Amino acid sequence: MITEHYPFKLMPLPYEYQDLEPYIDTQTVTIHHSKHLKTYVDNLNKALTGYPMYYNWPLEKLIKNVNVMPQKIQTDIKNNAGGVYKHNMYFKGMSPRSIKEINGSSSGPLKEAIIARFGSIENFRDSLKTAAMGQFGSGWAWLVSNRFGKIGIVSTANQDTVLTMNLCPIILVDVWEHAYYLKYKNKRGDYFDNWFKIINWPQAEKNYISCTQSNPVLR
Ligand code: MN
Repeated sequence: MITEHYPFKLMPLPYEYQDLEPYIDTQTVTIHHSKHLKTYVDNLNKALTGYPMYYNWPLEKLIKNVNVMPQKIQTDIKNNAGGVYKHNMYFKGMSPRSIKEINGSSSGPLKEAIIARFGSIENFRDSLKTAAMGQFGSGWAWLVSNRFGKIGIVSTANQDTVLTMNLCPIILVDVWEHAYYLKYKNKRGDYFDNWFKIINWPQAEKNYISCTQSNPVLR
């Protein structure tokens, strides 16, 4: 990922708003990206304005060091830096080409790790779905790697991230209602099943490799 810092910009999507149809509808992707994500970006910049010592800090650094920042901006930084970080990863984590990719013979270290840990891609899907369905209210479900390269599933509330738990994100799904309500109404499980079909596996593989390479223990 390019090291981005203040003033943060709205990340362009790597596909058109309508490209995730019929899994995620055009209106939801449009509003989620151009309104929800844009608001996190704008509010993050607003919170940082007047604090030039943080102007060259990338998102990860802001998230991990929020506790040493002035108390009056901590909540805004935590929520909005977390929001930008996770939405950028969520949107990059979906691909209109994935149906072909998952049905093809594509493989890699991540798929091998998933099969070693969960037994099959289907079992992994079921475990991640349990976490996504079990997250009460707004939040996210994640596939993460710990500092020893061991993968596992966690869920977090609101705009919390796994970075502060020293976990490295590989795959994540937004289960805030704004991510699915226009099309799926209260059926979070149907949204999850369709989101799973458009996971950008090549990107997830890249994330996993960078999780293990950034860890000196595994080098
Ligand atoms: Mn969202």
